[in-house]
Amino acid sequence: MTIRRYLEDSALTGEVTITSVVTGEKTIIRTSETWFHPQGGGQRGDRGMIGDVQVLDTRFASDGEIDHIVSDAGRIQPGMRLPFAIDEEQRMINMRMHSAGHLIAGVVEVRFPGLIAVSGHHWPGEGRVEFREEEQTDITQAEVERLVREAIAADLEVAIKGDPYTNRVCSIDTYRPIPCGGTHVGSTSELGNIEIKGIKRKKGKLRIGYDILGR
Ligand SMILES: [Zn+2]
Repeated sequence: MTIRRYLEDSALTGEVTITSVVTGEKTIIRTSETWFHPQGGGQRGDRGMIGDVQVLDTRFASDGEIDHIVSDAGRIQPGMRLPFAIDEEQRMINMRMHSAGHLIAGVVEVRFPGLIAVSGHHWPGEGRVEFREEEQTDITQAEVERLVREAIAADLEVAIKGDPYTNRVCSIDTYRPIPCGGTHVGSTSELGNIEIKGIKRKKGKLRIGYDILGR
């Protein structure tokens, strides 16, 4: 099992020990521990470098390992200890998109108790939060825009609580804490401006589309 250091440490550079290099349909590098966030929880996988090799994406493998997908492993071999660097610009975008999703879920749940956030997708250009609508609400795009704008202006703390490996939650202000393995900004002012793109209802679900501006 790869130790998922990104759950407790937001370092973007450091060193890793190579445990295996897998060549097949994709070339994969595995390490004993990783600071790369794998795709999951609605958040994109990190990119960056391990040694002089480019990491194109990071994914969960079925056996609890984490795969760093590379175009070519070059001379990398198991046992090597190598520096890594995570693509900071892309990580920041992912953190802002992911945290913006939590914020939208939080402000909407507080203002409209009939809406329960159930899922999110936080890829740039595709951001959305889905709610189960337990009772009919009069939610409007303008109201969501106002709630989000106020929460950003209030600079609410985005706190990560619990044990990183067993019961980690993301908690913004007094909103319902959400079990989460993603990466987050420290406070809502770091989100910049959030654009609410629309509200749609489909099959009992209410979907709020969003994006971050200035990325
Ligand atoms: Zn999260």
